Amino acid sequence: MSGIKITKTQNSHISEVNFDTLGFGEVFTDHMFSMDYENGKWVNPRIEPYGKIEFEPAMCTLHYAQAVFEGLKAFHTKDGSINIFRPEKNLERMNRSDVRMCIPEIDLDMFMDAMTELIKQDRDWIPTSKGYSLYIRPFIFGTENFLGVHPSSTYRFMIILSPVGAYYKEGFNPVSLLVPDEYVRAVKGGVGEAKTAGNYAASLLPAKIAQEKGFTQVLWLDGEQHKYIDEVGTMNIFFVIDDVVITPPLEGSILPGITRETALQLTKSWGMDVQEKRISIDEVIEANKQGRLQEVFGTGTAAVISPVGEIQYKDTNININDGEVGPIANRLYNEITGIQYGEIPDTNGWIYKIP
Ligand SMILES: *Cc1c(COP(=O)(O)O)cnc(C)c1O
Repeated sequence: MSGIKITKTQNSHISEVNFDTLGFGEVFTDHMFSMDYENGKWVNPRIEPYGKIEFEPAMCTLHYAQAVFEGLKAFHTKDGSINIFRPEKNLERMNRSDVRMCIPEIDLDMFMDAMTELIKQDRDWIPTSKGYSLYIRPFIFGTENFLGVHPSSTYRFMIILSPVGAYYKEGFNPVSLLVPDEYVRAVKGGVGEAKTAGNYAASLLPAKIAQEKGFTQVLWLDGEQHKYIDEVGTMNIFFVIDDVVITPPLEGSILPGITRETALQLTKSWGMDVQEKRISIDEVIEANKQGRLQEVFGTGTAAVISPVGEIQYKDTNININDGEVGPIANRLYNEITGIQYGEIPDTNGWIYKIP
């Protein structure tokens, strides 16, 4: 074990939580993990009661957003064990985000121990209904107090846990997307491929406008030509045209989703024609006009697979599959959630099990 100091809560609040009406990320468990970076080393790993943390107003992250995060899930299985889906991939990606944001990396063993110990403390918080899970949120932020602009010399790494239900109020029903005219999310060479706080701050206004117009989320075009499809604010995007499964390639502006990679691997293993290639919004409109656009769906940890029923771009409304869930989205959802809940054998080694 890695010397994690554990202080248990004296008053669990689990009995105050209604597990039947869980939304996404609104309720937190009894404990949290913390560790500090000082003098060039990660030190003082600890699990403590979930609660407030204190910082000075000059703490650099509040001003300059030197922060990264991750999101993954733990699932309750029938035999009482806990399944976590591809956690090593999250740590690999967090370390890549760290490098881009000048944040010190974290060692895989430390990450796995911290997450495992924390989940063991709060294992009673994992919802047992299908479709529900325990969302795991690791994050790192600079903690030094200064107003000049430079990388922080101290950091905190934390993990908090949140029992969650469906991400979208639509559940596994198609969502609608608006392509913004005047805003972009990311450009090559920027921070689009890092899971960093500022990307989300920048997306709030366009997402708010989309929601006011009745759409669930924003579908981003590339930042240079405003022509090729990048992704959705919290999901990667897939199209099925002429039986070919297409998703935009990872060229620097798109967040490399783990669900994206999983969906690519699965569809390939099913013998489908799968292509990672640039696809323009005009091609999608054209394919739809000609009746060749079969499915559109998003992929992301929070919603797993999210079918898309409608895309609005300027004056063009693209109605997909009459607003019905398509067969590939459906098959992916069943396969991935089946593996996550331990109902389908994990032949790819994607599950990390806590007995
Ligand atoms: C986290 C995230 C995704 C999805 O990644 P997963 O690893 O599949 O959860 C997609 N796009 C953005 C912008 C994200 O932050």
